[in-house]
Amino acid sequence: MKSSELRQSFLSYFESKQHQIVESSSLIPGNDPTLLFTNAGMVQFKDVFLGTDKRNYTRATTSQRCVRAGGKHNDLENVGYTARHHTFFEMLGNFSFGDYFKQDAIAYAWEFLTKVAKLPEDKLLVTVYADDDEAFDIWHKEIGLPKEKIIRIGDNKGSRYASDNFWQMGDTGPCGPCTEVFYDHGAHIWGGPPGSPEEDGDRFIEIWNVVFMQFNRSANGDMAPLPKPSVDTGMGLERIAAILQGVHSNYEIDLFQNLIKASANAVGTDDLTSQSLRVIADHIRSCSFMIVDGVVPSNEGRGYVLRRIIRRAIRHGNKLGQKGVFFHKLVEALDAEMGEAYPELRKLKERVASILLKEEEQFAKTLDQGMRILEDAISELGDSKIIPGQTVFKLYDTYGFPADLTNDVARENELEIDEAGFEAAMEEQRARARSASNFSMDMSGDVSIDSETEFTGYTELEGESVVEALIVD
Ligand code: ATP
Ligand code: MG
Ligand code: MG
Ligand code: MG
Repeated sequence: MKSSELRQSFLSYFESKQHQIVESSSLIPGNDPTLLFTNAGMVQFKDVFLGTDKRNYTRATTSQRCVRAGGKHNDLENVGYTARHHTFFEMLGNFSFGDYFKQDAIAYAWEFLTKVAKLPEDKLLVTVYADDDEAFDIWHKEIGLPKEKIIRIGDNKGSRYASDNFWQMGDTGPCGPCTEVFYDHGAHIWGGPPGSPEEDGDRFIEIWNVVFMQFNRSANGDMAPLPKPSVDTGMGLERIAAILQGVHSNYEIDLFQNLIKASANAVGTDDLTSQSLRVIADHIRSCSFMIVDGVVPSNEGRGYVLRRIIRRAIRHGNKLGQKGVFFHKLVEALDAEMGEAYPELRKLKERVASILLKEEEQFAKTLDQGMRILEDAISELGDSKIIPGQTVFKLYDTYGFPADLTNDVARENELEIDEAGFEAAMEEQRARARSASNFSMDMSGDVSIDSETEFTGYTELEGESVVEALIVD
């Protein structure tokens, strides 16, 4: 089944269960300053869950474009390393706003997976929140899953990889316990079931998260019950497509294979298995859709996340030997794969390509020099495994290498970056920018603090990304 057919069969199944089919919302959340990008299907319904927004339906289904490249859910550092993570992906979801709850939500998920998608039952296993006996009993007594296929998991705070059966959109907002469905891709692949030390291998892959929305978490950590218990689910389209197409990695599905071939062509390489091609194929999707939704490369906020991802893609092309511009050419291939489902992409593809090209030309000027400096710094390390913070800072400040890009190169060389040293250099820079902007204000009487506000924006993001990157290592 092709990805596009799968998307349609999901929406049709839930439509037959009285769900309203709702369009995917923009990657830029409507009115939510707490969130960088739409990272799940529920984002556009946040206020409906909270009871402050009303719709003329109580059941909905969507295929939502999502980006996880910043904030609470950030998979940028996973791309190219795991079989299942993208910066951009499509999340299939069904929602109940105070309508059905645990029993129907579980029954629908199981019916879709085993009867519509026809996944073999014996390859599926599930997790439930540690003390959610109700969900456990539904799976065991009503669905008939044997007890050993139902794993109880707590909320593993602080562990990046460990399964977590308490879902939250961000640090605040609607949240609740969940039950997740996993697929066993087979003993020939490394990895263990959820809750085991090897759970992050590529063997057992999480496909569907069914969240029982019950609380609203506020900034001080308090959890207030929602007006009505609700349901929010999310299933990665690419992950279930992989299973249905008999492959074991998202990057092997039809859509990605075509993007990888186009990337190989544009970069000028024959080795289709290269990790860098997976990164490039992933990044063209997130970058293009961000631009479609109105983000432009810049030095702050969302624009800076976009710039970082573009530069990362360019660096990977460069690593494969492509010294000229190439990234913008992939918009055409992306349009061929996704333009039908996303007419806004088709409509804006020229604009997308030209923004990418401009960014490529700009970065090309410093990429070579920066890479040379980084390679020299690496060759001078001797026995040390840590790239000094000053080097990371200089690359960032002078050559436009965001710290996570330097970290990407470091990781390939089994090195780390000195995060604290980099932060200290950034702090000095911030102090200089502050005094510089005060100075210009004193001299001219004209208040121009652009450089300072921009600066704070992206350094905060930067700091967060570095921390996450280090945790992955
Ligand atoms: P994982 O543990 O694999 O990182 P998750 O628990 O972070 O996934 P959820 O927040 O539960 O994911 O999102 C719901 C579903 O969306 C997942 O079950 C998965 O199918 C899909 N999904 C999540 N993150 C990604 C991603 N980065 N790329 C592709 N699909 C994803
Ligand atoms: Mg995740
Ligand atoms: Mg998970
Ligand atoms: Mg999950």
